[in-house]
Amino acid sequence: MQALEFHRGDRIGWLRAAVLGANDGLLSTASLIVGVAAAHIAPRNILVAGLAGLVAGAMSMAAGEYVSVSSQADTEKADVDLERRELAENAAGEEAELAAIYVRRGLTAALAEEVAAQLTAHDALGAHSRDELGFSDALKARPVQAALASAATFAMGAALPLFVAIISPANLVIPVVIGCSLIFLGVLGGVAARVGGAPMLAGAIRVIFWGALAMGITAGVGALFGVAA
Ligand SMILES: [Zn+2]
Repeated sequence: MQALEFHRGDRIGWLRAAVLGANDGLLSTASLIVGVAAAHIAPRNILVAGLAGLVAGAMSMAAGEYVSVSSQADTEKADVDLERRELAENAAGEEAELAAIYVRRGLTAALAEEVAAQLTAHDALGAHSRDELGFSDALKARPVQAALASAATFAMGAALPLFVAIISPANLVIPVVIGCSLIFLGVLGGVAARVGGAPMLAGAIRVIFWGALAMGITAGVGALFGVAA
């Protein structure tokens, strides 16, 4: 039996999105927790704020993803509807167009016409959607799945600093959450870089730098408000 070959490209897309989603959840929730803690808020309220940040962030990611992937799905559907109309109005022209695509891909004119004729007879809309419009089932826009995946990865990232805040002594929440979050960010940054074929260390350092900056600024703002209160 022929061995199944597995292309990295198949998993790069969604793995990269998952890592970036988790990164987003981790960084925004860690910064929120550090900022609120710097304002000397009661420990219980820090956790409530962190949990609210997790839920709000996950929902907004889901909403944003659902809206953007839905509009992609709408565009795909409109293209396929247009193709269906063109096939009904100009079948011969469409078949010639399909053959021309196969010639550009390297087939002889005779073979291209034969392939176009057979594929048209078998499933004309499917052949045009795939070979003319470039749509494939694997890449089909799935708004609900995309929204759920985005919310889940954000929530998983956000749960890390929240868990650390729960188990940390109240007076050490800021340094422990910052320290652990920077380690988590470094790991995620390295993984994202590796998945994208880039050097892991550079990827990790880049994310740690921005993470430290975000948490530092948020802690500063929190401390400012804490003093003012
Ligand atoms: Zn066509």
